[in-house]
Amino acid sequence: MTRASARRHVVVLHTGGTLGMERDATGAFAPRAGALQRALAHLPELDDPRLPTIRLEEFDELLDSSDVRPREWQRMADRVAAAFAGTGPDGPGPIARPADGVVVLHGTDTMAYSASALAFLLDGLPGPVVLTGSQLPLVEVRSDARDNLVTSLLLAATPGWAEVAIYLGGGLLRGCRATKVSTHGFDAFASPNLPPLADVGVDVAWRDGLVRPPARGPLRVGRLADVGVVALRLFPGITADTLRNVLRDPVRGLVLETYGSGNAPSRDPELLAVLRDAVERGVVVVNVSQCLRGAVRMGAYAAGRALAEVGVVSGGDMTAEAALTKLLVLLSRGADAAAVADAMARDLAGERSPEPDAA
Ligand code: ASP
Repeated sequence: MTRASARRHVVVLHTGGTLGMERDATGAFAPRAGALQRALAHLPELDDPRLPTIRLEEFDELLDSSDVRPREWQRMADRVAAAFAGTGPDGPGPIARPADGVVVLHGTDTMAYSASALAFLLDGLPGPVVLTGSQLPLVEVRSDARDNLVTSLLLAATPGWAEVAIYLGGGLLRGCRATKVSTHGFDAFASPNLPPLADVGVDVAWRDGLVRPPARGPLRVGRLADVGVVALRLFPGITADTLRNVLRDPVRGLVLETYGSGNAPSRDPELLAVLRDAVERGVVVVNVSQCLRGAVRMGAYAAGRALAEVGVVSGGDMTAEAALTKLLVLLSRGADAAAVADAMARDLAGERSPEPDAA
């Protein structure tokens, strides 16, 4: 076998984001169709046999990730599944070479949401899905784009692991553990409650026993439904009325971003009554902390226990992004509120650590 025929194969799905942007007439970065292909044509390293072969697919409309919605998460999940199956972007048709891994080019602003949504939508991945982007476009003279792209291709071509991850600026992070923490740093993401899957420096140092292995069974893709899921960050002075407005029908799930270890105002009975009413109506309310590190422990303070008493579910150490997308995926399955609440408290895709007292 020649060296070239042993090259692994990666599908690159371009959804938009800074990496493939160009400056518009005002000097602002904006997505433009064809810009990425033009830039890639000037990257000789893509012909290097040490890199996988690639097939580039693009969203019809390239997006700043601020415009990505659940319907794009579904589109991404479907196209990732098609890439692994080798069925091409438009469903069964001319059989393309099945991918060994997928790289999703995506803006960093909402990348953690998309990575989390994909982690919950794609059940039984046969290979890695690496989301990457950059803080500066590939066409700029000084840019983090080239390294992020080349390294992501190598990571997506690495056998033996299969999960949705984010690579940017030296860290390979589990997607449903990551959150964007910097508007300007090349290492824009952190994974506050789980170490990186790998530190990528001179060598790629994989964390032993952390990455998830390829699934043995078939890849199943979840379907998102039009269910109302919202997030609300508590702030001092929040009123029961504000909360009532947020929880109006047809909202079915709320991610409540609370203080510290899961605390909320406990001296406002009306506020707690609004939450209790919502839970009794079948709304699933999940408690995640505004703190980056650590977990919700609703029994630690009376102000947290009050939430547990009205039926709020602990989000443990999940990121707000993971909690929101998980809630949407679970509610989309049509299960009842109790089953969804139960599943929210369990680890499904590596998104939450075991509760200390449950260990
Ligand atoms: N606004 C851009 C986006 O998220 C920022 C980036 O690409 O990093 O699409």
